[in-house]
Amino acid sequence: MELKGKTAVVTGANRGIGKGIAKVLADKGANVVVMGRNREALEQVAQEIIAANGNAMAVVADVTQKNSLDAMVEATLKKFGSLDILVNNAGVESPAALLQDVTEEQWDKVLNTNLKGVFLCCQAVLPPMFNQNKGRIINIGSVASLRMTFLGSVNYSASKHGLIGLTKHLAWELADHNITVNTVCPGGVSTAMTESTTSAEFRDKVRKRLIPLGRSSSCDEIGEAVSFFAGESAAMITGQAIAVDGGILTGYGEDLRAVVRARMASLKAAGAQ
Ligand code: NDP
Repeated sequence: MELKGKTAVVTGANRGIGKGIAKVLADKGANVVVMGRNREALEQVAQEIIAANGNAMAVVADVTQKNSLDAMVEATLKKFGSLDILVNNAGVESPAALLQDVTEEQWDKVLNTNLKGVFLCCQAVLPPMFNQNKGRIINIGSVASLRMTFLGSVNYSASKHGLIGLTKHLAWELADHNITVNTVCPGGVSTAMTESTTSAEFRDKVRKRLIPLGRSSSCDEIGEAVSFFAGESAAMITGQAIAVDGGILTGYGEDLRAVVRARMASLKAAGAQ
């Protein structure tokens, strides 16, 4: 119960990774505000947490709408009395397309949600975090925050790389208020987002070729990394981005496992002589 007494807001928590994060934080004792746009699905997640003996409240808000975020903060303080942890998870993707085919509308939608939405959420939680002189902000980036990926489009990469700049900047700006800011970068996680942009066959091929651990992450595994940054053990860590990707970013974008295994086998054989 490492997070007992802490209150966490998780944006986009009605499904996928956000739901996984909300459940892990609740399991570790946090009061969780399950925030997003779909009331019915949010209530369902909150009920699941409560049924598992956790504390949760569903709040409808849109990360692109400042007024709704201020109301969300007010509702959080009214219900739980503090707001200690913000998890900026809400995000969107647009269909993979070449630069010349990405529309202005797609650019705006992705940047407004994935980057401006994070900026607005960070602004909204400042009053309680300043009052408490303490806080944790954890952004959900992507392997596309750290490297070009061939799965999405330029707008997604730009938005997720932008989070790294925001993280580093805010680590300094908010340090005097004892607020840490970090980014967790998932690799492949099977959710509605990945299923809407790639085929199962394609995902299977990528898993086998590019992920040393050979499988996708679960939503809970992303939640565990988030809970680490939210907990006391991470008090000295700020401005960082950590990939939870089964090792994708350590590679060269091609399947090296056969080469690595052959090399290891030859070294072993040489050692045995
Ligand atoms: P999903 O599409 O399953 O979930 C996205 C969530 O964000 C939904 O709950 C959605 O709610 C919410 N959301 C979108 N726009 C808004 C908004 N304006 N205001 C509030 N909530 C909003 O995606 P994932 O769970 O896969 O993705 C979660 C995060 O993880 C994203 O930031 C994504 O970029 C990142 N990520 C995912 C990876 C993966 O492999 N799945 C890999 C790397 C990063 P609604 O129902 O209202 O649309």
